[in-house]
Amino acid sequence: MIAESLTHPPVITADVLIIGGGLSGALLAWQLLRRGGARMIVVFEPRAELGRGEAYSTEEPDHTLNANAARMSIDPDAPDDLTHWLTEHLAAGGWPQGAAQRQPIELLFPPRGLFGRYVQERLGQAMAEAPGISVRHVRAEAEDAWPVPGGICVQAGTQRWQAPIAVLATGVFPAARTPRRGSPATAALALDPWDVGRMARLPVEAPVAIVGTGLTMIDGLLSLRRAGHQGPVQVFSRHGLLPQPRRQPPAWPDFLCLDSSLRTPLQLSRALRRQCRLAVSQGVDWQAPLDTVRAHVARLWHQASEGQRRQFVRHLRPWWESHHHRSPPQGAAWLAQLLSEGRLTLEAACLIASEPAPEGLELTVRPRGREQAEPRRFAALIDSSGIEYDWRRVERPLPRQLLARGLVRPGPLGLGIDADPSGAVIGATGQVSDRLLAMGPPLRGLWWESTSVTDVAAQARALALHIAQLGFNAPKVGKTGVSQ
Ligand SMILES: Cc1cc2nc3c(=O)[nH]c(=O)nc-3n(C[C@H](O)[C@H](O)[C@H](O)COP(=O)(O)OP(=O)(O)OC[C@H]3O[C@@H](n4cnc5c(N)ncnc54)[C@H](O)[C@@H]3O)c2cc1C
Repeated sequence: MIAESLTHPPVITADVLIIGGGLSGALLAWQLLRRGGARMIVVFEPRAELGRGEAYSTEEPDHTLNANAARMSIDPDAPDDLTHWLTEHLAAGGWPQGAAQRQPIELLFPPRGLFGRYVQERLGQAMAEAPGISVRHVRAEAEDAWPVPGGICVQAGTQRWQAPIAVLATGVFPAARTPRRGSPATAALALDPWDVGRMARLPVEAPVAIVGTGLTMIDGLLSLRRAGHQGPVQVFSRHGLLPQPRRQPPAWPDFLCLDSSLRTPLQLSRALRRQCRLAVSQGVDWQAPLDTVRAHVARLWHQASEGQRRQFVRHLRPWWESHHHRSPPQGAAWLAQLLSEGRLTLEAACLIASEPAPEGLELTVRPRGREQAEPRRFAALIDSSGIEYDWRRVERPLPRQLLARGLVRPGPLGLGIDADPSGAVIGATGQVSDRLLAMGPPLRGLWWESTSVTDVAAQARALALHIAQLGFNAPKVGKTGVSQ
């Protein structure tokens, strides 16, 4: 005991430990504040600000939300909340570019940085309105966690923290900025899709390659524009699909609700295509039937067998990603312009390798349907090939430690981590934890769609209720424990 207290600093107690202070962690803290009961909520987040994470840290006005304000409230009980906040913000002179669009506020697509400010202000208001509850931002990466009697202990730097409940809100792990198929030298040459400053240092006419065609690619194109780039852009993706532009389709009958016999990915995709054809034949946007599917995704994914999930991921995922995760109008318009001017070309090809070359780098790509790989030269590479959902491949201390300790196990299809529908994490032996919970992107395997603002907002509300039901009985920490 003496040796223990000499080796380790005192353990600090709290009611809830939230690991990760991006959108998920901030919204959970917000919901817990509004619900009451906890006295001390601790959020571990190395970034300077809570509520932003990767997505909402961008300061570029062109990097907008991919849905309009009416769809992006953080409060599932008040769908107009963002519209109200924006109305006040614009009335106070904020976001003049938004006011200049002369559109109803609910139809605007706000910059993601502004959305981050909205989240922060709502969190700040809730903190001010709950004087008995502290939200403490610990600017450190949580590196390890383990069970203790009555709770969980978390190690962050030299500090140890303990609470009855800990929540993994660790978000997305960026595969995007670590080109896996290149040498460390090419990794150093790869551009962050949001790093306008580095892009501005490229020669104006430099040929640029982008790997991956999701919404991060759209961000990359807008960043290049902001940086003044005027050269050619070659985009590579395995399937050669580009994100569809987001429009505002009218309501459409909920065909999945009306026909519960539709279960397999094949049945679903056939039924959806039929509905889209029907819509088009009636002069209605095909996006209308597609948008009705969203409400059923969690149920469909949950009831599907492992084989059916694999079938979906292998055959339908690229199509789903490009049609469901659609591009905001500004990004879509810029993409269309680049295509029409011939400045952007799209090639269905696989990136095999990348190596430094004079004045840039050489990529080895294998075009779709061909055996032979081909070399291509570019001045720079933007890797927007996606997010790493498989925790076994994430090279951060916490995922490694939790897997090594058997406190978590890979989720279905290796996506994120396994949990029950309440978010209680399932360990290597199959035991459901009553102390360690998870939300947001780590639950990709459980829900499939577990990343968007609406997903995260709904999970934060449900999880706060669940935590309140579990109670906030502080664990015993022995003589070394101090409470702050
Ligand atoms: C570029 C981008 C654009 C997006 N645009 C949209 C959009 O327009 N509309 C939409 O609905 N959704 C969008 N999303 C999806 C979604 O809103 C985000 O993924 C959302 O931010 C998820 O929140 P999160 O807090 O779970 O994850 P993150 O935002 O990734 O935040 C997780 C946080 O946890 C911290 N963290 C991780 N590990 C630890 C640790 N061990 N200790 C301490 N802290 C840790 C990280 O520093 C990070 O800040 C976008 C996502 C991205 C990446």
